[in-house]
Amino acid sequence: MGRNSRRFWAEVIPFKSSIMKFLTWSWKVAHVRGVEIRFHYSVLFTIIAAYSIFRPVNLHGGLITLIALTGFILSIFLHEVGHALVAKLAGVEVKSVVIWFLGGFTNLSYEPEKPLPRLAIYAAGPFVTILLGVSFFATYFYLRLISSGYAQICLYLVTLNVILLIFNILPVYPLDGGRMLQALMELLFGKSSANLITMAISIPILIGLIGLGIYSHDYILLFFCIFILLAISTLNQRTLRWVNLGLSYLFRRAGYYYLQGDYERAVQYCTRAIERKPQQVNNYVLRAACYLHMLQNEDALLDVQQALEIAPKNEIVVMLRGDICSIEKDSDGAFEWYELAHQINPNSGLPYFGRGSVRLDKNEYQPALEDLNKAISRLTTLALFYVVRSKVHYRLGNLEAAHQDQDSALHLSEKDALTHADFNLQVYEGYLDWADDCYARVLFKRPRSWYAYQGRADVYYVNHEYDKAILDYTKALEINPREPRLYLGRGKSYCARAEMDCAAADFRQVLIVTEKLHLRRWAEELLASLKP
Ligand SMILES: [Zn+2]
Repeated sequence: MGRNSRRFWAEVIPFKSSIMKFLTWSWKVAHVRGVEIRFHYSVLFTIIAAYSIFRPVNLHGGLITLIALTGFILSIFLHEVGHALVAKLAGVEVKSVVIWFLGGFTNLSYEPEKPLPRLAIYAAGPFVTILLGVSFFATYFYLRLISSGYAQICLYLVTLNVILLIFNILPVYPLDGGRMLQALMELLFGKSSANLITMAISIPILIGLIGLGIYSHDYILLFFCIFILLAISTLNQRTLRWVNLGLSYLFRRAGYYYLQGDYERAVQYCTRAIERKPQQVNNYVLRAACYLHMLQNEDALLDVQQALEIAPKNEIVVMLRGDICSIEKDSDGAFEWYELAHQINPNSGLPYFGRGSVRLDKNEYQPALEDLNKAISRLTTLALFYVVRSKVHYRLGNLEAAHQDQDSALHLSEKDALTHADFNLQVYEGYLDWADDCYARVLFKRPRSWYAYQGRADVYYVNHEYDKAILDYTKALEINPREPRLYLGRGKSYCARAEMDCAAADFRQVLIVTEKLHLRRWAEELLASLKP
C-alpha cells in the first residue's frame, strides 16, 4: 500500500535563520490569560524619540516625558488588544503580543483561512487607534483650560496616534493596511491573485518610503523598511527562497548548501558547526535532514537522537523522529511521535499533517481528511500538504476537491507540487491512478513542465513501469538537459530493463552535468555496480 512520508521540514528548517531570530528578539514582560506580552528591543527607540522631542531640563519636564512615553506605549498596546479581542471572537487563539517602536504585532496561533474574519481582525487595531486619537483630542480640549503642560501631552498623543494610524493603514504588507488589502483582494479575486496584487501595491510604496528615508536621513524609517521587506518576501515562495538563500549564504553556509540541494557539502559545514557548538540543536537537525536526502537513514537517526537528548521538547526534532519511523514504514511509531509533537505545540499544523499522513497510509480516509484540513488551516503555504490531501480526496471519490488541491499546490510551488525528494518517493507507491489523473491535467495546461514529466516518471519508476518511466525522463531531459536527477532516474530504469549500456551512458552524464557531491558519488557507485 502507498506510503505518505512527507517532508515538511525541507522547507521549515532553513527559515529559522539566526538573522531572523536577531531581528525578532524580544523580552517577555507579562502573561495575561495565556497571552504573552513581549517588548521588542526597538521599543528603546521610543525613549530616545520622546527625549529628543521633549528635551526635559528638570524633574517636571522628566515627568511629562515619562507620561507621554507611557501614553504612547499604552496606545500601541491597546491597538494590539483590539486585534487580539477580535481574533478571540473569531475563535483564533492569540499566542503573544509584541510591542515595537512603530506599533505591535499580534501573533495568532494560526490565521483564519477565510478572508472575512482576517479582515475584521486586522481592521480592529486601526479602529482602536482612531478611538484613542479622538478621546485624546477631547481630553486636550478639556485640559487646555486647566493645565497647558498636560494638555500638551494630550496633543502629542493625538499626533502620535495619527502617525500610528497612517503607518498602520498604509497598504503595505504586513502592516494592517496591507493585510486588510490582501484579505479584501482574496474576497474578490482568490488567494494567489491576492498575494500578487498585495505585492504589486506594497513594493512601490516601500521603495518610496526607502527613498524618503535616504533623502531625509531618517534611519528609523529605513530600519522599519527592512522589517517590512523581510515580511513581504514571505508572501511569495520564490522571493522567500531567494531571501533565505541570501541570508543563509551570509550567516549559515550549511543552510545555503542545503537549500541548493548540495547535501554532502551542507553536511561538511554542519559537522564543523557541531564541533564548534556541540549543544546547538539546529545543526543536528539540519545534518539529519541532509542525511535523509542522501538516503543515509542510520546517520540521520543518530543525529536526531543526539538532538532529542539536548532538546526533548523541540517540536521539529520530535516531528523529524516521527518521519524517520515513517520512512522505515513503522506507522505506529511515527504516530506516537506525532502525538508527542502535538502535545508540545497543540496549535501547530505539522503534527496534524503527520497524523493525517499516517492515517492515509492505513486507508483511514475520513479521519485522514479531518487531520489534513486542520493542518492546512494552520499552515497554508506548504504545497506538499495540498498534494497529500488531493490523494485523500481522490480516494474518497471527490475528484473536484482533488483537482482544487492540486491547483493550490501548483500555485504555491511547481517543483514541490510535482516532484518529491528521493527518500520521499514512497509517497507514489500504489498511486498510479491518482498520478495519471493529476499529471495529465498539469501537462495539458503546461506542456513544457519538466517537473511534471520528472514527477510522473518517478511515479512510473516506483511502480515498476520502466518503459513509461524512460519515456517521461526522456521528455523531461529534452526540456532540461542539465538536470542530473533525470539522468539518474532514467539510468536506473534502464538498469531495471537490463539495458546496461544505456544505463552507463546516463550515469556518466550525471558526472558531466553536476558538481553536487552526493549525486556524483551515487553515479560512480551505480557505474561500478554495472561492471561485470
Ligand atoms: Zn495593527
